[in-house]
Amino acid sequence: MTSHSDPFQRPEVGPVRRLAVLGAGPVGLDAALAARDAGFALRVYEAGPHPAAHVRQWGHVRLFSPWSMNLSDRMREGLTAIDRPLEVDPDVSPTGSELVDRVFDPLWSTAFLSGALHIGTRVLAVGRQGTLKHEEIASTTRASRPFRILVRDETGTERTEFADLVLDCTGKFGNPNTLGDGGIPAPGERALERRIERWLPDLDREAERWTGGTTLLVGGGHSAQTAVRALDALARRSPGTRVIWAMRREDPELGADPDDPLPLRRELVAEASRIARGDSAGVEPELGVVVDALESAPDGVSVRLRRGGADVREIHADRILALTGGVGDAGIYRQLQVHECYATSGPMKLSAALLGSGGGDCLAQESHGVETLMNPEPGFFILGDKSYGRNNTFLLQVGWSQVDEVFAAIGGGAPPGPSSP
Ligand SMILES: Cc1cc2nc3c(=O)[nH]c(=O)nc-3n(C[C@H](O)[C@H](O)[C@H](O)COP(=O)(O)OP(=O)(O)OC[C@H]3O[C@@H](n4cnc5c(N)ncnc54)[C@H](O)[C@@H]3O)c2cc1C
Repeated sequence: MTSHSDPFQRPEVGPVRRLAVLGAGPVGLDAALAARDAGFALRVYEAGPHPAAHVRQWGHVRLFSPWSMNLSDRMREGLTAIDRPLEVDPDVSPTGSELVDRVFDPLWSTAFLSGALHIGTRVLAVGRQGTLKHEEIASTTRASRPFRILVRDETGTERTEFADLVLDCTGKFGNPNTLGDGGIPAPGERALERRIERWLPDLDREAERWTGGTTLLVGGGHSAQTAVRALDALARRSPGTRVIWAMRREDPELGADPDDPLPLRRELVAEASRIARGDSAGVEPELGVVVDALESAPDGVSVRLRRGGADVREIHADRILALTGGVGDAGIYRQLQVHECYATSGPMKLSAALLGSGGGDCLAQESHGVETLMNPEPGFFILGDKSYGRNNTFLLQVGWSQVDEVFAAIGGGAPPGPSSP
């Protein structure tokens, strides 16, 4: 069914340019506020049943960064405008849920944003009307063609909508990496998916599910470190609960930095390093190993861990917690002219800029300018966590700057006049 009064259901441009935001996470929200201020017709597609679906998944986790860094000026002003000014200690870190409750949900419930937001609506693919990826290369014609956006709503019905500009803010949390060596699934992994948890569990609320038997935790990054700390505490107070922590790195020192300006991160890394050294009774660390294969076993999974070429250990796990990072879904823009980095899978120019800046502390990360966010595909931008590809140094405050830069470049909702560049 199409509605002719809905500009997103017609291919042709109307009196106002249409901007589609894919993903109602924190960066999608900031982009939506900027689109409203710039006078665009706005549509936001959110796959989850609520906005900020990813943040809600890890809502129990306290962010490393303090309130002062976790909301944009647009959000602050928006909250004041609806008489919900944020009165918090700017130096304290909120949990994900506190951000949702105090900032994201109140803003999404305002008339303009709630009217633009389509929840339960997953974007499956974006193309360009009347042309293919390999056609109209470096041609100005491409920009005059509307984007075609294939979406699937909560009833499973698919439809195409149209937009003049698209901001892909779908993040990477929903696209976790698999367990096997070399970044590909281990043999047996796909068949045993129901035994593998890929989200950070809330062990205060779900303790029962994780008590007793053996949990195999795989991964060494901050998410795995957060989980191991909670699992260690659970195992120490619950006899019969065993936790094995497998990671590729051999060195148990996980990068603890006494000068880390974020105290919560400093404490987490120090505590996780202590656990990785084998200094806690609750967790058995297995360092320098990869997951070689998984096999179904009575009441669980038999997991083969391999160290080096041949040294193999078989363990029995009742459940597996895989926290091995993630990368954005490139399938969405497969038919667009997006130049991806061969190493990080992020947009090429931004990846090169990040590489050039030498990684380093994520607190020092800043936006690298709108040039690095431009794609060969005109009018298509990847923003937020997804824009960092496999780099895990993205910070929300970088997202706010990306939104500023993109909106300064794309102008406002009025269609460009005949003499405009
Ligand atoms: C546990 C954890 C702790 C973190 N702590 C910090 C911190 O302290 N400070 C900090 O600055 N950053 C932190 N980050 C990193 C980062 O800032 C967050 O991941 C942040 O949520 C990224 O925001 P985003 O809007 O880019 O993406 P997301 O929050 O991932 O939002 C993407 C949205 O898009 C939706 N979506 C996905 N696919 C589709 C689709 N195909 N169609 C429609 N919608 C879709 C999702 O449901 C989701 O709502 C943390 C990340 C994690 C996982």
